[in-house]
Amino acid sequence: MSDLTEKIQRLKKEKNAVICAHYYVESEVQEIADYIGDSYYLAKIASELEEKIIVFCGVLFMGESAKILNPDKTILIPDPQADCPMAHMAQEETIKNMRKQYEDLAVVCYVNSDAKLKACSDVCVTSANALKIVKKLPNKNIYFIPDQNLGMYIAQQVPEKNFLFHAGYCPIHHELTADDVKKEMKLHPKAKVLVHPECKKEVTELADYAGSTSEILSYAKNSTEEEFMICTERGVFHQLQKQNPKKHFYAVGNGQCCEGMKRITLQKVADALEKEKPEVLVEESLRKHAEKSLQRMLKLAE
Ligand code: SF4
Repeated sequence: MSDLTEKIQRLKKEKNAVICAHYYVESEVQEIADYIGDSYYLAKIASELEEKIIVFCGVLFMGESAKILNPDKTILIPDPQADCPMAHMAQEETIKNMRKQYEDLAVVCYVNSDAKLKACSDVCVTSANALKIVKKLPNKNIYFIPDQNLGMYIAQQVPEKNFLFHAGYCPIHHELTADDVKKEMKLHPKAKVLVHPECKKEVTELADYAGSTSEILSYAKNSTEEEFMICTERGVFHQLQKQNPKKHFYAVGNGQCCEGMKRITLQKVADALEKEKPEVLVEESLRKHAEKSLQRMLKLAE
């Protein structure tokens, strides 16, 4: 165990803290985490933890979600500059205008969004539960923000509803093309193509399986196949390889790397624990509004 890891473990005990990490952070940060998961799992687990301090290793909107659901806890984010560009790719003004145009409108907000967007939405969703939740909504008109790719992927499976999309996207997934995938398919003809639905339609159309990060992990684990092409952020390779040491996983395109997630380092985790900052704070009235959308998600996803 390195000195830094030892320090983190010691501080964690002393301060009664717990470390949550997303699958996209660096491998060594995943290794010191008590809980690792995708956005949905992390949002849910944060509400069930007894510890008073949660160190959130991921991008800022994830720490915000934890704070929104747990206002009495101290949520630390090792680097507050760890941001997700997609989280800000919709505007309150546009949402208000859409509400004026459609009486029966449900604003469905992908959890990869900042607190302001969550606060002016009707319900949050993750890539793992979006389909289930949209189907349960009584509204015919669905305004899906901010990710157009995930929105379109869900819309295809719910033809009875009228979807309106916002032009947001995750730069990491959106830049993957069908050509990138086809090139890799030629090199690994036996590999199953596993795709995150934040990718463009031309990429999900080539998928043997499309699902959230945790669903991709389960698919690879349960499959009898031995080779897989992974169309999502590269951080997931750590758990894929750990859980399936004999299977082979291939990256596609430029090896998709989320800079925001990679800002979280062991040193920053240790510093955050030691100083008990930077802390994620969300103004109370904003928090209460955003909480409604998140709580509705947790209820509908049950
Ligand atoms: S991978 Fe994409 S959606 Fe996820 S945090 Fe990074 S930029 Fe945001």
